[in-house]
Amino acid sequence: MPELPEVETVVRKFRPGLVGRRFAGFESSWPRNTSPSVRTVREAIVGRRVAALARRAKWIVFELEPRGYLLVHLRMSGRLEWAADHGLPAHTRAVWGLDDGRRLAFADARKFGRIVYSDALEEATASLGVEPLAREFTVARLGELLKGRSRRLKPLLLDQAVIAGLGNIYADEALFRAGLHPLVRCDRLRPPQVERLHAAIRAVLREAIRRNGTQIDWVYPEGRMQSYLRVYGRTGEPCVACRTPITALRVGQRGTHICPRCQRRPRR
Ligand SMILES: [Zn+2]
Repeated sequence: MPELPEVETVVRKFRPGLVGRRFAGFESSWPRNTSPSVRTVREAIVGRRVAALARRAKWIVFELEPRGYLLVHLRMSGRLEWAADHGLPAHTRAVWGLDDGRRLAFADARKFGRIVYSDALEEATASLGVEPLAREFTVARLGELLKGRSRRLKPLLLDQAVIAGLGNIYADEALFRAGLHPLVRCDRLRPPQVERLHAAIRAVLREAIRRNGTQIDWVYPEGRMQSYLRVYGRTGEPCVACRTPITALRVGQRGTHICPRCQRRPRR
């Protein structure tokens, strides 16, 4: 599933071709995942200009002029692709026509993606937590988010209502870089550990953006970060720091990768 760095890469890739263009049409064979409805989205966006293409958490955000926001979530397998003259990509669920005659397709084999129109971005994204690369995500802010919570650390990192944009890959990578076990209780972290975790989250996301994200099979074929991951997907391979084999465990239903030596299990 694409996470913050992959979505950021998609936004950067499509920004030059979309900003300044006007929507000329919208069709969707996929009404269940389009809200409020295919017709409402079409009526709202056709004739409006794309003023900016941005990202909020894992959402792609089209800022429209004179007003309004079109939000697209790739979820498990969604992809944006320019349609060729002779046809649409496989598994196309929705198509936007543009005033320059080009067509942008949303292809999604597994159909978990989402297309949403909203007049107010704050309303549409009200349930999302802090952006981990934003200025307001400080060490102090992370400390407040952890304080008083008896939850385990990794599930908290994956909770989009707390910190928005991290998924399974970068949560594992950030925990390894911070030397923290995924099952440590949030309220047990000492200030130096909070500081290390904050730095690790930002460093791994920035590095992944620089490398255009992590390849995820056919879902996300671009990206070079997979060659630089230190624990995710490396079960049985030696730790880059201490050569101990990386082990896999399950934390809240999610496959989790750690170095059992660099990330000591917390004592109770
Ligand atoms: Zn190690």
